[in-house]
Amino acid sequence: MTGAGAEEARRTLLTDARPAGGGERPVDLLIDGGRVVGVGPDLPAAGADVVDLEGRWVAPGLWDSHVHMDQWALVRQRLDLSSARSAAEVAALVGERLRSSPPPAGQSLVGYGFQDALWPDAPDRALLDAVSGDVPVVLVSKDLHAAWLDSRALREHGHADHPSGLLREQAAFDVNTAVSAVSEQQLDLWVAEAADAAAARGVVGVVDLEMTLSLDRWACRVAAGTRALRVRAGVYPADLDAVAALGLRTGDPVEGTDGLVTVGPFKIITDGSLNTRTAWCHDPYPGLEGDPAARGLPTYEADELVAWLRRASSAGFVPAVHAIGDAANSRALDALEEVGCGGSIEHAQLLDPQDVARFARLGIVASVQPEHAMDDRDVADRHWSGRTGRAFALESLVEAGVVLRLGSDAPVAPLDPWVAVAAATSRSRDGREPWHPEQRIVASAALAASTDGRSSVEAGSAADLVVTDLDPLAASDAELRAMPVSGTLLAGRRTHWTL
Ligand SMILES: [Zn+2]
Repeated sequence: MTGAGAEEARRTLLTDARPAGGGERPVDLLIDGGRVVGVGPDLPAAGADVVDLEGRWVAPGLWDSHVHMDQWALVRQRLDLSSARSAAEVAALVGERLRSSPPPAGQSLVGYGFQDALWPDAPDRALLDAVSGDVPVVLVSKDLHAAWLDSRALREHGHADHPSGLLREQAAFDVNTAVSAVSEQQLDLWVAEAADAAAARGVVGVVDLEMTLSLDRWACRVAAGTRALRVRAGVYPADLDAVAALGLRTGDPVEGTDGLVTVGPFKIITDGSLNTRTAWCHDPYPGLEGDPAARGLPTYEADELVAWLRRASSAGFVPAVHAIGDAANSRALDALEEVGCGGSIEHAQLLDPQDVARFARLGIVASVQPEHAMDDRDVADRHWSGRTGRAFALESLVEAGVVLRLGSDAPVAPLDPWVAVAAATSRSRDGREPWHPEQRIVASAALAASTDGRSSVEAGSAADLVVTDLDPLAASDAELRAMPVSGTLLAGRRTHWTL
């Protein structure tokens, strides 16, 4: 199995290239030994493959700072139901897929991403039976808390007599686990496809926060030819001691991966989520007043969190602390300050205004997923009513001098940094009014937050580059979301190339 990323690096001269943000005058870029060795007019072509970029733009290669790669690879294989506005629409999508590309004989069709809370009609097994023929159909909801099955799949999963076919909670989790159980070989193949697809969007690296320890898996994948991405693979509390015992620390290369895979951050989850109203906040969720969990739930007491961070940082791990609610962010900052270890807060969705400056003062990275704001703006307007001016507060963070990183949390949003850049700069999608437009950030800030902090292409820098047909700093929201990427280089290797 060899993905597009298996290309060898070669000495390359890119001519008529416009460095994004570097003015209108085109230049040449000379690439050798995995690095950009020259930027300027009329560079020598001797011994180099010459590619005329015809005025296309070149920017540092893109990073997605928060993904779950296995989950994303699985979800990519599933029928996407996120656009459906009714049960009938879902049934139509299922019918169309079974006609156009049915799964191999004996396999189920698995769909993902429906959200039935506002539908005019109810999901029912009979709707699916009418279109499914002899293919079992399993549809998983966006939040994974529901699964809608046709009669054949209900029989297979032990729910033959279920009245509607819409399973909830544990029954739904069990079905999802069963349909997600693919062989390692199959999963690796799908991960390779997902990595190639990411490279085709200009991505050179991801921070993989998959919850099962993936250092060995990634080493196997690279050995098998999956070389389209750099990967920083996170480590959760359950695996901290085992990884530390190998003498590994954050940033260390994983053996046998040519430096493509490194040990990522120490990931620790300190509260829940907005949609489930478990994100831990200073104020109660409207309607939950008086409930013991009215403000959401912290996962750790303050001293426990400090103890984990101390343990991780003394073993050489940089923490990545999941905190969504404002109370969770305050506690995370308290703990990071006490331990003095630096690191990132993942999500940072709702912030106490005083905490914004603390990110900057402590040098804590805010790792945010702007497209979640587009997915969840209505939920936030309701559950964080009166507080949304400080939700996904990108401009407040940038203005305070906080180091910002953007990501997708794929599969929650697609692994495509252009989507994140579009959401961060427009705070709008599908033609809706921008949501809290005062928190939009400029394109140059959004791009720098999506390139691992590199803001320009300079001689001496890594030849991790993306070539686009449009100027990323001048593109509209719609143009950003569909940004035409004609080439991606990772250390000078062509991981995606159409030129
Ligand atoms: Zn995540």
